[in-house]
This record gives sequence, structure tokens and C-alpha cells, in this order.
Amino acid sequence: MSAQVRKRIVIVGLGAVGALAAWRLSQRDDVEVVGIEQYGKVHDRGSYAGESRVFRTAYHEGGRYVPMLQESRRLWRELEQHSGRELYLEVGALSIAQPDRIEMRTTLDTVREFDLPHTLYDTEELRRAHPKHNVHDGDVGVLDHHGGGIRTEVSLMAALDLAEAAGAQLRFHTPVLAIEEEPGGVVVRTPTEAIRADTVILASGSWSTRLDPRLHDLLRLQVLGLTWFMPTDIADFLPERFPAFLRDVGPVHFFGAPSLDGYSIKASSNPTWPVARDVDEVPREYTRHELAKIGQQAKEFFPSLNPEPVRSSVHHCAYTPDRTPIVDVSESERVVTVTGLSGHGFKFAPVLGEWAARLATQPGGAGIDPHFSLAAHLDRLATVGPYRGGGH
Ligand SMILES: Cc1cc2nc3c(=O)[nH]c(=O)nc-3n(C[C@H](O)[C@H](O)[C@H](O)COP(=O)(O)OP(=O)(O)OC[C@H]3O[C@@H](n4cnc5c(N)ncnc54)[C@H](O)[C@@H]3O)c2cc1C
Repeated sequence: MSAQVRKRIVIVGLGAVGALAAWRLSQRDDVEVVGIEQYGKVHDRGSYAGESRVFRTAYHEGGRYVPMLQESRRLWRELEQHSGRELYLEVGALSIAQPDRIEMRTTLDTVREFDLPHTLYDTEELRRAHPKHNVHDGDVGVLDHHGGGIRTEVSLMAALDLAEAAGAQLRFHTPVLAIEEEPGGVVVRTPTEAIRADTVILASGSWSTRLDPRLHDLLRLQVLGLTWFMPTDIADFLPERFPAFLRDVGPVHFFGAPSLDGYSIKASSNPTWPVARDVDEVPREYTRHELAKIGQQAKEFFPSLNPEPVRSSVHHCAYTPDRTPIVDVSESERVVTVTGLSGHGFKFAPVLGEWAARLATQPGGAGIDPHFSLAAHLDRLATVGPYRGGGH
């Protein structure tokens, strides 16, 4: 196909969704891909930042996501093979909780419904198999064999490098100021240019409300933090022995990953910060009080951890009221929106990137779950109101 008839698709934001959409689109020879990112190539301000994210297929958020996760897993592997980089550590994801906990019950529901590869543990089996965890009396565990950790920054670099190698034009340090539909196309305005596109993919994460006022009532920013602690015995926390984990006790959701740096493990708890409306309201650091509290939790869940964090960072993510992502195409089919990944969306980035690519190239949207459309979200917003915080 000649270059003149290629469809020009501009991706706004090259974070998790945007980078993966750029990779998927760059494989097609009928489109010209332009990606625009306000910061540098793989920076430290996106919702993806912080070394790794937990991947799971046994999913307490519900069975709706399981086929998406299975497809994502396949695509993570494909990205890994194409890039030659290690991105996806399939070390398992271990959920520990009391058996009547809603998270445990819904996780087990998805295991049964989709026949997911797993190991179940009663309290004593759990203590024997995972001795680094302080297992509470009555706790049960389920190890999701397809779970583990994904290296976030490395994954984005892999996707962006492959997209550029396939001809995508990626522009960094270029903020998009406005997206304007006009007859026959869309104009993307930056401080120096007006870029014409056939279709735009809005993948601007926590910044999305600045570019699309329709999202203003729907999205809230949850402040989320990460902490790393040093164990006395690092060998027992390396990926070959220690799965990613999730623990739910009372109001505390504690999660983490095996050591990727060789001296500390990521072990973090859900946040107590109030929700924000704009990224500028998000604090850049933890308070000492908050760090001390998480340190005590870390020590309680893992007695061999030193409770002083050796690393910590504060991030944010755009949340919808029911924590389902927004995947939408405008009536004109010229603006595709993928945002509101609600604190659990990194694992889906390849599938959401692929969906964005399909919505941008195939009229009618090609079978995307209508539950994720903007109209469906706005309907639900009318009954439940905006996200108020406290979720994880
Ligand atoms: C601390 C923390 C822990 C998490 N844990 C998990 C986990 O264990 N598992 C999991 O699956 N998910 C997890 N998540 C959620 C996941 O990381 C996010 O949902 C995901 O990264 C969001 O992707 P995104 O593409 O929407 O946003 P981002 O990755 O933030 O990308 C948005 C990009 O758009 C750019 N941009 C914005 N506005 C503009 C503009 N006007 N012009 C140009 N560029 C622009 C930004 O600079 C950014 O690069 C966690 C999130 C956090 C913060």
C-alpha cells in the first residue's frame, strides 16, 4: 500500500497504554503512527513508574477480565520475544486471606470458572510452602501459576523501541494542548505545531481530564505509593523462590514482588491519601508517619524485613467509580479514549493497546466490551457518583 493512503493515527501519551498501542499499530503497514509524549522516553512520572507491577489471572475484580488477562499474557510474551528483553517474570502470584474475605472468594470463583492453573493451601500448607510470610491462624492461600511481575519501564522501552524501529514517529518533551475535531479529521495542537490526524488515541492516563472535559466528573486521581524493604535473607526473596503476593487483612491491602534489585523487595500497602482531581495536587513524597506505618505492616507480614524502607516513591492513577477502565470511540470514530485504568491496569496494557489500535482502524470497534464505553460509565456515574478513594 502506498504511503499516501496510509491512515495517520496520533497517540497522545506514551505511557503504558500509549506505548503498547504504538507497538501494536506499528506492526500494520496501512497506518502512519505518530506518538506524542509530554515528558521523555520512559520517565518517572507516569502511573507505570516504579520498577514492576503485579500480573495475575485469578482476578478478584471479576471474571470479565480473565479472557483479557489471558490475551495480555500472550501479548506480553510476544513483546518479550520480539524485543529480546526479559519483561514478564512468571513467578506466580500468591493471594493470602481469610477464606470468607470477598477478595479470596472472588479470586477462587475465577480460578474455578476459567480452570486456571493454581495451587490451593490451607493454613499449615501455606506456612510450610511460603515460610517467609507470617501466616495468620485461619489464613488460606491460592497461588496463581500464571501470575507474577512485569518490569514496567523495561516493557515500555521495549514497546517504544520496536515501534520506532517499525517506522513510528515518536516525539518526546511535547505536551499536547488540545485535540480538536474538524471536518475530515482531527487536529492535535502542541506548543509549536498543529498536527492533522485521521484518528487520535487519547492515552494520557491521569492527565486525561485536561484534554477531555467529558471525563471531568468521571475520573478521580488516587495517590498510590511504593516502598521497598531489605530482608535479612535476600536469597529467600529472589524471583526463583518468592512469588508476587497480595494480602488482605482488615482495611489493609498489602502487595509486592520478589527482589529485582538483589537487595530489597517491593512491599507496599494501599493508600490513605484523599483523592485528587489534578496531577498537580498529588504529593511527591510520603510523610514520615506514613512510612513508619507501612514499615510496621511490612514487619508484621514478613518478620525478617527491616521496617525502614530503603526506597519509596509516590505515584497516582486515574480511577473510575467502579474501577473499570474506559475504552471508547467517539461517534465520529475519530477519537479513541483509553484511560481510567484504576490502579490495576498495567497488566492489561498490551490488550488495551491492541483494542485502541482496533478501534482506531476498524469502523464499529470490533467487539470491544460495551461495559467499558464512556456512555456506560456515565450511566453508572449517575447512580454511584464519582470514586471516593479507599479502593486498591
Ligand atoms: C503505585 C502503583 C501501583 C500499581 N500496581 C499495579 C499492579 O500491581 N498491577 C497492575 O496491573 N497495575 C497496577 N497499577 C496501575 C497501572 O500502573 C496503571 O493503571 C497504568 O500504568 C496506567 O496506564 P496509562 O497508560 O493510563 O497511564 P500512564 O502510564 O501514566 O501514561 C500516560 C502518559 O501520557 C502522558 N501524557 C499525559 N498528558 C499528556 C499530554 N497532554 N501530552 C503528551 N503526553 C501526555 C504522560 O506523561 C504519561 O506518559 C499501579 C499503579 C500505581 C501508581
